[in-house]
Amino acid sequence: MTYTNLYINGILSDITVENGIITNIADASTHDTNRAVALPTMANMHTHSAMTLLRSAGSGLPLFRWLNETILPAEKKLSPEDIYQGSKDACEEMLHTGTSAFNDMYFCIDKTILAAHQASMEGNISLSVTDADFDDSDKIVAQYMSAVETIQKLDNPYISTSISPHAIYTVSGKNLIYLADFAHEHNTLFHIHISETQKEREDCIRQHGVPPVIYLEKLGVLDKVGDRFIGAHALWLDPDEIKVLGDHNATVVHCPNSNLKLGSGYHFLYTELRDAGVNVTLGTDGCASSDNLDMIEAMKIMSLLQKGSRYDPSVLPAAEVFDIATKNGRKALHLPDNSIAVGNKAKFFTVDLDQRVFKGIDLDNSAPNELHSAFLNRLIYAANGEYITKTIC
Ligand SMILES: [Zn+2]
Repeated sequence: MTYTNLYINGILSDITVENGIITNIADASTHDTNRAVALPTMANMHTHSAMTLLRSAGSGLPLFRWLNETILPAEKKLSPEDIYQGSKDACEEMLHTGTSAFNDMYFCIDKTILAAHQASMEGNISLSVTDADFDDSDKIVAQYMSAVETIQKLDNPYISTSISPHAIYTVSGKNLIYLADFAHEHNTLFHIHISETQKEREDCIRQHGVPPVIYLEKLGVLDKVGDRFIGAHALWLDPDEIKVLGDHNATVVHCPNSNLKLGSGYHFLYTELRDAGVNVTLGTDGCASSDNLDMIEAMKIMSLLQKGSRYDPSVLPAAEVFDIATKNGRKALHLPDNSIAVGNKAKFFTVDLDQRVFKGIDLDNSAPNELHSAFLNRLIYAANGEYITKTIC
């Protein structure tokens, strides 16, 4: 199959794909007016995909009330079939908006794994646990093993599974150590909500004498899981915590939409984390707090928050936030690079250029790097995921 008239890095090209692999990229053979831009697909690094079923629930409540009064009671009523349908809807929405990989945390994960496989998506689908689940820890391991078997039966090397402690305020120190040992032993990711709110940070200091990341370090969690640590949110950090995360080559996931909606905060320490060697990635969070799974919208909000909160419009330009949403996410998931290049798997989306927000870009008289930059800027700041025409994966 050959996809024609696509700008790749500003050069109008034809892409040939055979058995899912890009086998040829050539200068476009025809230069008709139906031109589009092709870009590598994104990785949504923190989701609870089945929460499409609870979209926009509990609007206006702060995190702890939102969780306890709205989300947990609603989740108790969800059947495995509901989880399958919610995950299926999430995968459709992610593909529709240019995302082909995700890092999920929920329950009934066999159903999400099946939905992801059927949608040709990649990623890690982890079982979320709290102390209540440790009343029967054999059951936790049984669910993990069932997920492993499901993936083996589907023979899908691009979907993995793991066990996620929900957060430090719902999982005890003893159980966090158990789960870090488990992740180390099974060579899996360790995905946890961390330092999401000021309250979480202050409670941790009151109870344990240190802030959340230092608490995990003292428990030995970071030494055990190292670069397989994925901390969702990581919004309330001090310089010592940033250094510890960098020293362990950890990954953090910024979820700006969710943090803003729940009033958790907005000053994500992007530059400091990046400079300390932390792998910064981007996620939407579940649809109950982010309302959609649109990574283009999340990129825009992340970039604008950095510029606004630092009074500096040069911070986090379009190309850099796009790398965060693509390369950094795939690195954390240990997935192969999906740059549009011969020999790589075909995982890209296309955006037709005859749409309103792309009007005025001088396609015929601009240098390739200028064109590429113009496309990215228009896509991230002027468009959203709904402008994506097609996702190939
Ligand atoms: Zn979350």
